[in-house]
Amino acid sequence: MLRIGVLALQGAFAAHRQMLEHLGAGTVAVRQPKHLAGIDALVIPGGESTTMSKLAVSTGLFDPLAEMLTSGMPAFGTCAGAIMLATHIADGRTDQRDFETLDIDVRRNGYGRQIDSFETDVEVVGLEAPFHATFIRAPIIERTGPGVQVLARVGQNAVFVREGAVMATTFHPELGADDRLHRLFLDQIGRN
Ligand code: GLN
Repeated sequence: MLRIGVLALQGAFAAHRQMLEHLGAGTVAVRQPKHLAGIDALVIPGGESTTMSKLAVSTGLFDPLAEMLTSGMPAFGTCAGAIMLATHIADGRTDQRDFETLDIDVRRNGYGRQIDSFETDVEVVGLEAPFHATFIRAPIIERTGPGVQVLARVGQNAVFVREGAVMATTFHPELGADDRLHRLFLDQIGRN
C-alpha cells in the first residue's frame, strides 16, 4: 500500500487525507521529521504559505523535506502547497522559504481582492469531463519552465501543472467529492 505523507502543519490537510484514504492509499500526517520515514510521496495542502514556511523551519521539517524533494520524491501541492513547491514567489514575505522543486514562478494572492475566491469549471488534459475548481486567495502562475506541462488553464493562466513526478494546482481539488486529480497523482507515483 502506498504511504502518502500529508504535510499537516497548517491548512486543509484533513480533506486531502480523507480523499487519499478513500482511494485506498495510506496517509501519514507529517508534523515532525520522524514522520517522513517510509513515505512514498508528499501532499502539501492549501492554507497560508507564509505560516507553513515558518512552521516547516521551526519544526525542523524544511531541510529534510527539501532534500527528499530534490531527490525526486513525487509531490502534489495545492494552492499554498503550489507556492511551497515553486522556484520563485512574488509578493511573499522576505523570510518566506520554499522548496524550489517545481520550475514555476507564482504570485501570491495573484487574483487580487475583488475576486479573491471563485469557482469555475476547468478542462483538464486527460480528463473527459471538466473539473469544478474552487480558488481561494489563489496564487497566479506567472511563468512555467520548459519542462513543465500545463494540464489546465483559466483564461491565460496555468492552474494545474506537472513536472516529472511533481504536480500542483492553484485551486483546491480536495474540496468536494471529485477525486480525479488525487487519482491521477496516485496513478503516476512510481511511474517516473
Ligand atoms: N494566499 C495563500 C498563501 O499565500 C494561499 C491560499 C490557499 O491556499 N487557499 O499562502
